[in-house]
Amino acid sequence: MLTLIRLKPCSALFLVNVLTILVCATSPTPLPNVVRKRDTRMGEYEQRVHKNWSGTDQSHPSRIFYPTKPEDIINIIQYANTNNISVRFAGTGHSWNGLTSTDGYVVNTDAFKKVLNVNRGRCQVQVECGMKLHELFDALHTEGLALPTQGYIAAQSVAGSISTGTHGSAHVGSISNFIVGMKIVDAQGKLHVLTEDKTPDELAAARISLGALGFIYSVTLQCRPAFVLEHKRTKMNLDYALQHYMDFYNNNDFCWLMCHPMSDTALVFEFQETDKAPTDNTLIELNDDIIFSKVMNVFSIASAHYLPGLTNDFFSTTFSILSQPPHRDYSYKLLSPIRNPQPVENYVEGEIAIPIQAFPQAVAAVKRLYETYKSPDFELVGVMLCRFAKASNNALLAQNYDRDVAYISLTTLSIFPPVHQFYTDFQLIMLKFGGRPHWGKVNVLNKDLVNYLYGDNAVKFNQVRKTYDPKGIFSNDFVKQLFD
Ligand SMILES: Cc1cc2nc3c(=O)[nH]c(=O)nc-3n(C[C@H](O)[C@H](O)[C@H](O)COP(=O)(O)OP(=O)(O)OC[C@H]3O[C@@H](n4cnc5c(N)ncnc54)[C@H](O)[C@@H]3O)c2cc1C
Repeated sequence: MLTLIRLKPCSALFLVNVLTILVCATSPTPLPNVVRKRDTRMGEYEQRVHKNWSGTDQSHPSRIFYPTKPEDIINIIQYANTNNISVRFAGTGHSWNGLTSTDGYVVNTDAFKKVLNVNRGRCQVQVECGMKLHELFDALHTEGLALPTQGYIAAQSVAGSISTGTHGSAHVGSISNFIVGMKIVDAQGKLHVLTEDKTPDELAAARISLGALGFIYSVTLQCRPAFVLEHKRTKMNLDYALQHYMDFYNNNDFCWLMCHPMSDTALVFEFQETDKAPTDNTLIELNDDIIFSKVMNVFSIASAHYLPGLTNDFFSTTFSILSQPPHRDYSYKLLSPIRNPQPVENYVEGEIAIPIQAFPQAVAAVKRLYETYKSPDFELVGVMLCRFAKASNNALLAQNYDRDVAYISLTTLSIFPPVHQFYTDFQLIMLKFGGRPHWGKVNVLNKDLVNYLYGDNAVKFNQVRKTYDPKGIFSNDFVKQLFD
């Protein structure tokens, strides 16, 4: 104290500066500095509306950040944690629910798109969180590698996809099941390096974590050598396809079934691995692009409004056009027929995974559900997609934990008055079969249902969540509904 009094003003200033530096070194950088400093470099920084892909979910975050370095994100997290502000990380917004909504901070991850490491011997690839799946597929192909499974489109970010358990239809699990390592930043700004050997329990929680554990910086994926598939699509009688679903599944390496529950026809997609070279598929790709991503969507909207009653004819005709004789290509091109679909306003999807043996009864129940929603004014048009996956027990919140599953997905438009009730009924009916809803699609889950459907796994996940994020800054209304 005495020393201080004797100090000249400039020395006192020096001491204040030293103290400030010491305090800053031990506490998080205050956000206003971060924002002001990076205002121009971070690009946009303003109040705005944050929407999902189809505009069915909207929120008004106080800030949307576009960081370019992991340090930016650590600063944002630390500031939010000190000030109890909710932080949600956004991939490409391809989730059909309020997962990324918040009135706090939304952190865009687009700038994080590098391949960080390729281990060719182990077929493992480490990438940054914001890389889009189609970029990942291309990068893997260049390395002579491929993912063992893929979803229907390839537009989502890597971290976004794995955080909700994005899956395809194969004799393996979802993409999340192929994660062998992750780097994740918790609410204190601490980096956790997760591996199967050293932190299996945390990795099991982080593989599907709904953004609720923290910022996933990187993901290491177990891939396999690139492979070619022979693919054919066959239009057939819906009842026949449903009766023989197990044969289609067992006789193919990948297979799924597309239909409308109230029409007579189905389109069955079959894929088998082959040693033969790819064929030239230019015309098929063009046809797919036009029919899948444009005609089907436009028709769904138009007919649902103005031409209810044409569903059966429409699907029958479309499936004829989409039928294809055997042709070959690399897996990454065929398994995701739509790379980057244009957003379709009001388009919604709910999807539920049931034990595979319950598939026929579940489809019958879905048909009965549609009957009760029949109306002369509109039609719940949209595709029913049936897919399959093997059990895998390395992700606590996986729909395929402890069971082989069939996924039933129903798409429609949110403009129909009873749509919310429709998906609520769908979930309720599937609950009888133990149906676990897709985390990224329309669902009406709550804590009781999560506990009922995931049992001990929900408890374990929540324990990790509370360790990583004791104050719950990585939660929003949607997440709070799911966990205590
Ligand atoms: C047209 C369409 C087709 C689809 N097809 C399929 C399909 O075939 N199979 C399937 O299973 N699903 C499918 N989906 C659903 C989609 O794959 C999932 O909802 C996926 O999570 C979306 O990824 P995203 O990058 O858009 O993530 P977002 O929707 O932006 O976010 C999803 C979750 O990931 C979290 N997140 C994102 N990045 C990070 C990060 N870096 N760190 C921590 N958390 C993060 C978010 O907070 C959020 O909780 C489809 C969706 C659409 C719109």
